[in-house]
Amino acid sequence: MAQIKTTGMYKSFPRSGSDTKTSHYCAGCGHGIVHKLIAEALFDLELQDETIIFNPVGCSVFGYYYLDAGHISAAHGRSPSAATGIARTLKDRTIICYQGDGDLGAIGLNSTLQAANRGEHIAVIFINNATYGMTGGQMAPTTLAGMKTRTTPFGRDPLTDGYPLHVCEMINELKAPVYIERVSVADTRRIMKARKAVRKALKIQKENRGYAFVEIIAPCPIGLKSTPLETARFCMEEMEAEFPLVCLRDNSADQPLLPTPKKIVSVKDFFENSGTDLGISTAVPDESFKELRMKFSGYGGQGVLSLGLWLAEAARIDRRFTTWFPSYGPEQRGGAASCAVVVSGRTVGSPDADHPDLLVAMNQVAYERFIGDVLPGGFAFVDLTVPINVEPRAGVRLISVPALKLAEEFGITQSANTVILAAISAFGVSNLSRESLLSSLDAGFRKKPELAIKNKKLFVKAETWIKDQWKSSEVRECESAEIAASEDTAHGTGRGIC
Ligand code: SF4
Repeated sequence: MAQIKTTGMYKSFPRSGSDTKTSHYCAGCGHGIVHKLIAEALFDLELQDETIIFNPVGCSVFGYYYLDAGHISAAHGRSPSAATGIARTLKDRTIICYQGDGDLGAIGLNSTLQAANRGEHIAVIFINNATYGMTGGQMAPTTLAGMKTRTTPFGRDPLTDGYPLHVCEMINELKAPVYIERVSVADTRRIMKARKAVRKALKIQKENRGYAFVEIIAPCPIGLKSTPLETARFCMEEMEAEFPLVCLRDNSADQPLLPTPKKIVSVKDFFENSGTDLGISTAVPDESFKELRMKFSGYGGQGVLSLGLWLAEAARIDRRFTTWFPSYGPEQRGGAASCAVVVSGRTVGSPDADHPDLLVAMNQVAYERFIGDVLPGGFAFVDLTVPINVEPRAGVRLISVPALKLAEEFGITQSANTVILAAISAFGVSNLSRESLLSSLDAGFRKKPELAIKNKKLFVKAETWIKDQWKSSEVRECESAEIAASEDTAHGTGRGIC
């Protein structure tokens, strides 16, 4: 028997260490057919080396084992959003979002509609098999009325479960899409039409014409708990009665339909070539500078986000690379709030500080939540009122400072964060210059210069006071023995502090 030459796919699929030539799809599944159609089109259109495929969460999550192209996995349903970023930054690439009913029609419907409405330059291949195959055959948005699934054992009832979702028709309500067609892979004749549709969608990408959407009705015998033949019949008769095979739009010949998107200005270009003196200085690479990751935490309203911003501002003044990454709950003021700041001598990769070198915790909740994350050799500053009932890792220096009390004594009750900034300066733990830390308050209070003056005075006073009081009962390093003792106290009537 002559060997069929398969182009655009890997020769074998070495999943889990085995060099198998069979896919993980069930017998009679439509995914394998669609993969083959995409692979052939990529090869014939010479797109293989410039294509990036987003695989969904679902049965075809392993698409990267089969299709010989670039692959990215996005969060469930978010392929069109992630693909937007890639399509806009890598304009010479062909982007395919390969998605199933759950990924596209349920959790990702908003991403789908918004990307279609923006006319992103992506090809979406939507596999509609009327069920959630991977998880065992639950109802999908496209499940037919009356159809029995694991979660609709008496049949989908439109009164309680809604009607089957017609995604093609929804997208057809939008102006931007260039091409919208529904096809099927239930028999050979239909596969040939699906082949043309897939090619057209990819050709539209190759020619940079805009958004293309191809819905493919595909058999899922396992989800339907039926035979491949019966499932093919179900697709051709029952599914097509609900989802007619139709080309709803093809504007691809009217190109250029969409104006060429404006060139996106990089952040670097924006700051360097804006023609306006924004007082912005660019960072200078310095491999000798030790990268510092910091976490500032407390309640909303305690100024921890501002404190982080000041550190980032000081880093900017010192011409370091820096990021500020806030995190707070829906209540914001009064709820938990924190931010991560990274200061580096080179471009910052992740802006997070899961394992900080420096922690500021302004309340007990923040202390208990983050103290165990501080790296050995790192510092933690806590307000004196915070009960120290959890021991840091060995090698972490824990310093308590009466920030709230000092701010009150100096007459600016809201400025405990300024006292902590002074403490960071006093202990020299940020690798940033004192002048920059002090000047950061000018930026922090740009709209209220009188407060900048007051806080700068507080900074100077607090810094001197902290140095003078170092190792007194008020500004001190907590020792392990004391923490253990305070832990004992915590079992009694009240919680101790070191
Ligand atoms: S469960 Fe359905 S969609 Fe998933 S691999 Fe099996 S037949 Fe295909």
